[in-house]
Amino acid sequence: MSEIRHNWTKEQILDIYNKPLMDLLYEAATTHRLHHDPNTVQVSTLLSIKTGGCPEDCGYCPQAARYHTDIEGNDLMNVQQVKAQALRAKSSGSSRVCMGAAWRNVKDGEEFDQVLEMVRTINKLDMEVCCTLGMITENQAERLAEAGLYAYNHNLDSSEEYYKEVISTRGYEDRLNTIDNVRKTNVTVCSGGIIGMGEKIEDRAGMLVALSTLDPQPESTPINALVAVEGTPLEEQQPVSIWEMVRMVATTRIVMPETQVRLSAGRTQMSREGQAMCFFAGANSIFAGDKLLTTPNPDVNEDMKMFELLGLNPQKPFTKKTQPQTVEASDSQYESLGEKPKWSRPEHTIQRNEDAKQKAKAVK
Ligand code: SF4
Repeated sequence: MSEIRHNWTKEQILDIYNKPLMDLLYEAATTHRLHHDPNTVQVSTLLSIKTGGCPEDCGYCPQAARYHTDIEGNDLMNVQQVKAQALRAKSSGSSRVCMGAAWRNVKDGEEFDQVLEMVRTINKLDMEVCCTLGMITENQAERLAEAGLYAYNHNLDSSEEYYKEVISTRGYEDRLNTIDNVRKTNVTVCSGGIIGMGEKIEDRAGMLVALSTLDPQPESTPINALVAVEGTPLEEQQPVSIWEMVRMVATTRIVMPETQVRLSAGRTQMSREGQAMCFFAGANSIFAGDKLLTTPNPDVNEDMKMFELLGLNPQKPFTKKTQPQTVEASDSQYESLGEKPKWSRPEHTIQRNEDAKQKAKAVK
């Protein structure tokens, strides 16, 4: 087995990313085979449990309230709605449900209690439960763990340097602190990023330095290709080529050999051949369902046809780590602390975010 290194430098990662493609693919596929079953790919379902109206200014996101996009917002779903969707996902081959809420951070109170109940409900369906709810405190992470959460997603998005060009309402350090809070529990960490936001290849390598030098490395890393949505500050970005995606997946696989690498947003722009190359390069998870939070995604039947064609098998739940126990709310050891954590607000000016905000004001 290749060793897990936590001391990758940007230069070393760039050397890997820029290798001749055949060498890169060969090394990534070899690493992948040493650590994973190459014919098994996890199917996860991403569910937007609270859509739109987000106070943050992420330049790629149609859910930010300040931009004008045609996203239909909705309040927090109820537990029964979530259970019905999870059952549907399970019957179509998903072993994991990831629930996303368009929040800056989790606030203690009724809505968070409702999310905890959703976690309990899905864990009892014997599916891996992941949440992406924004920044969380240690106490909130512990309460999620106690409910039976399997993974918490909190993406670094890009390098620390480029992050400032995309988001001004919170700092990179906040992201790392949330990951740290999750790490204090037995919940696994899911963290990755987006390519195609106008960043340099150095920024992609910078993001991989930040992720791979975490100890332990994230158990899961989504690699998204930007889906440029009209009305967002990044609406004019050109789609990334499949070659960039393959290089990013392969490099991620080499520097994080044990991590589940997830092919995430942008799959609708990829051919089956392109996706097959990503699986060969070490991607071993996809998101199923016709929507990825709010952006289009291939139909689940299409994905199953692709699996058949490529001889891939959907991964069973809890193959990497045992199922967490669920503690009922009435037996909880943790109190809601009603904390008001001071997450940062750098609020520097990002011109294209400002322009998109002004445009939205003019439309409204
Ligand atoms: S990415 Fe998340 S935090 Fe950023 S605007 Fe969208 S919903 Fe809000």
